[in-house]
Amino acid sequence: MDVKYVQTTCPYCGTGCSFNLVVKDGKVSGVAPYQRSPVNDGKLCPKGNYAHEFINSPDRLTKPLIKKDGKFVEASWDEAYKLIASKFKSYKGDQIACLASARVSNEENYLMQKFARAVLKSPNIDHCARLCHASTVVGLAGAFGSGAMTQSIADIAEAKCIFILGSNTFEQHPLIGRRVMQAKKKGAKLIYADPRLTPTGKQADLYMPFYSGTDVAILNCMMQQILKNGWENKEFIAKRTKDFEKVKEIVMKDTYSLENVSKISGIPAKALATAAEWFGTSGSSTILYSMGITQHTTGVDNVKSVANIQMLTGNLGRPGTGICALRGQNNVQGACDMGALANVYSGYQSVIVPDMKKKMETAWGCDIAEGKVGLTVTKLINTLADQPGTVKCVYIMGENPMLSDPDLHHVEKGMRNVEFMVVQDIFLTETAQFANVVLPAACFAEKDGTQTSTERRVQRWRKAQDPPGEAKADWQIFCELAKHMGYEKQFPYKSAEEIFVEISKVTPSYGGMTYARLEKPEALHWPCPTAEHPGTPILHKEKFTHPDGLGIFTPIEFKYPAEVPDKDYPLILTTGRCIWQWHTGTMTRRSKSLEREEPTGWVEINPEDAKALGIKDKEKVRAITRRGQIEIGARVTNGIKKGVVFIPFHYVECAANILTNNALDPVAAIPEYKACAVRLEKLPEVK
Ligand code: SF4
Repeated sequence: MDVKYVQTTCPYCGTGCSFNLVVKDGKVSGVAPYQRSPVNDGKLCPKGNYAHEFINSPDRLTKPLIKKDGKFVEASWDEAYKLIASKFKSYKGDQIACLASARVSNEENYLMQKFARAVLKSPNIDHCARLCHASTVVGLAGAFGSGAMTQSIADIAEAKCIFILGSNTFEQHPLIGRRVMQAKKKGAKLIYADPRLTPTGKQADLYMPFYSGTDVAILNCMMQQILKNGWENKEFIAKRTKDFEKVKEIVMKDTYSLENVSKISGIPAKALATAAEWFGTSGSSTILYSMGITQHTTGVDNVKSVANIQMLTGNLGRPGTGICALRGQNNVQGACDMGALANVYSGYQSVIVPDMKKKMETAWGCDIAEGKVGLTVTKLINTLADQPGTVKCVYIMGENPMLSDPDLHHVEKGMRNVEFMVVQDIFLTETAQFANVVLPAACFAEKDGTQTSTERRVQRWRKAQDPPGEAKADWQIFCELAKHMGYEKQFPYKSAEEIFVEISKVTPSYGGMTYARLEKPEALHWPCPTAEHPGTPILHKEKFTHPDGLGIFTPIEFKYPAEVPDKDYPLILTTGRCIWQWHTGTMTRRSKSLEREEPTGWVEINPEDAKALGIKDKEKVRAITRRGQIEIGARVTNGIKKGVVFIPFHYVECAANILTNNALDPVAAIPEYKACAVRLEKLPEVK
């Protein structure tokens, strides 16, 4: 038997762990440790350990499919390309929208935004970062000039105080949780704020259960305490920031006193005071947050408040400090870096700056889409549902909005209004079933490429086996489709590496990167602007990225979520993930070892709320919001705050996103997944 080990990067979360794929006689059959990775030192969480199980699933797409008379029929690539090219050519740029993918490589995201802008002449390119960390990109870019995690993962172990807010780190980024435990072993204090007592919360020195959506009030209150006690870093504020007085004026208001914020958030005043003291006096305090902060109508406000408290205490630009915005999907950071966003080209170069447009036209050798901000994922779905005929054609790569987007009945209405839809994926997802043409794609183990983790580390994927049947790498599909559209010259690539060479030429933060430099186990963190540059694990050491080098404080007032409980919908619904599944379950639900652990969804409810409603543990109940209803089993647990219920969003048979609210943050256009009003009902007894 021929056995080889191929080192690659995990396709699940944004931590970016490395492992070896075990390949026997040309087929991936297992995962083995890769000890030299500085990210995970050979250790893996359950998803990484079983990352091979979905690869050779019998459900993989193996041939192009064309829908005829409502049924999918197998087709040749040539037939599929000809149909797609003729349809694409029949629409104007604005009538087409593309969704890229946080699951595929940098090279492929780069090509999809290039295909949208250069071939289709469409400004409408976006992806699911809009649904998870759009508020991070906007909020941190506003405060510091750069919208990314400021530290390296290993650096978390150097902190003396760690404040985790809106992130179940130990279940969602377990190998980052490991760094938190390393810091704790060295004496760091861990503060945890979340409506649920998760496994992360169980390790905390101070746990603060709170009402979802009250983050700004909590952070303003902590800042008031820090100022009242003189724990702010006066030198940092004076030398490295501006507009501090504006924030001081807001946070010193009575609204943000311990007593008031205790009422708003549900956290005891003493706990808020202790959190402020530990955080303000440790000397090196870091904040870890995830979608509990970002997925709100106040997502940008929440992120800017996090930036405010870190500037107030001078906890930036040094080891053990900073803001760790933990990115969800394996390559959501890279998809943003590559310009798969409605407002920027790669490297966050704005589409509305004429010089940037000219730069891309010169590099690509053709006219490109008008330099205007295109439709975001969330605005696209609203446009499809509410203004039929405006966007007629949608091209989706590796995204599943029919399960991942809020208010699924509304999403379905939009999908049904699309005249021509192409979906490129590895499985026939809930979204692919709405397509006119489905193209079978290769998965991470079947192609070369790069992905960029939450800590801005750019790492390699390496091909371990051939794709099944006639499936092809996404980048090959773009090249072949571009040829059918008359753009062969713009898409001449023979390998992923050739695409990366172009990326580094047009993307300043990747300017010094090559595949050869990424070969070493530690790879490179961006920014890495030149061939000699060593990469940048910690941002903002001497100055921020704004032209004047200063960080900008933003005064933020607390606002309640768009929908709050009332007599008809008396509870707050919050959603999230579990350790065994991943997002819409496309890969994990086809992995036997993961699926058997949590094979369906549930709703967590506090015993007092359950008693008032007559609901017993494991009983099936109906969860109802203004947008829809689902039937789901109850888990009665003290691990959730009274007044709040939680549903994981992985499961199509009890899809949490039928219930969620698509109210958007006004700046980042991110939906409010983390707080809406819900009612639970017992199901009538069957006699
Ligand atoms: Fe993969 Fe994330 Fe688990 Fe690491 S922590 S093995 S990257 S899922």
